[in-house]
Amino acid sequence: MAEPLRILDYGLHGGHPALDFVNTLDWRDRPAAEGGPEDMLVSYGALLAWCRRLGIIGAPTLAELERLAAGKAAQATAVLTEAVGLREALYRLAQAARQGRTAKPADLETLNRTLLRYPEGRVLAAVNGARLGWKAHGEGLEPGSPLGAIARLGADLLVTAAPNSIRCCAGPDCGWLFHDTSPNKRRRWCSMESCGNRAKARRHYEKHKA
Ligand SMILES: [Zn+2]
Repeated sequence: MAEPLRILDYGLHGGHPALDFVNTLDWRDRPAAEGGPEDMLVSYGALLAWCRRLGIIGAPTLAELERLAAGKAAQATAVLTEAVGLREALYRLAQAARQGRTAKPADLETLNRTLLRYPEGRVLAAVNGARLGWKAHGEGLEPGSPLGAIARLGADLLVTAAPNSIRCCAGPDCGWLFHDTSPNKRRRWCSMESCGNRAKARRHYEKHKA
């Protein structure tokens, strides 16, 4: 039996789907000697499962993408490689925004390439009598199409995020990013239950060790 996918039950603490995507590389800052980072994006199936979990694709689209990718292992692997490249570009762009640095042209190029390569897949149509609305445009769906939606989410965050709202968890080795929309921007941890409690336990240990 296949291993259960961690990507289906890790904590979505990014506060924004683009950062939840970035956080699919867990323990990003953990040194190699201690096991290094842990990638939850282990297969094309894991990518689709993540998109479904976040509501980026519906069940019918998931089924259609699985059908398209079936028997095309090389293409599915290429999309996975592209997804990881997009995630790492998003990570560096979010870090640049967080630290007030200029974005690297190569990272913008990666994001823009994905935006242009996978159009949004919806067209304007009469949906209710004369009323116009968005209608899914089924043609052109390909295994990499969900990457376009992820890139648009990432671009939207980078364009609209308020100063100091993209933050990094203070937990040692954690490396998770989150979008802090609280007015005073004092959130420190990806989650109180994991990194917050680990820090509390460590303080407790240090205090009583003496
Ligand atoms: Zn953390």
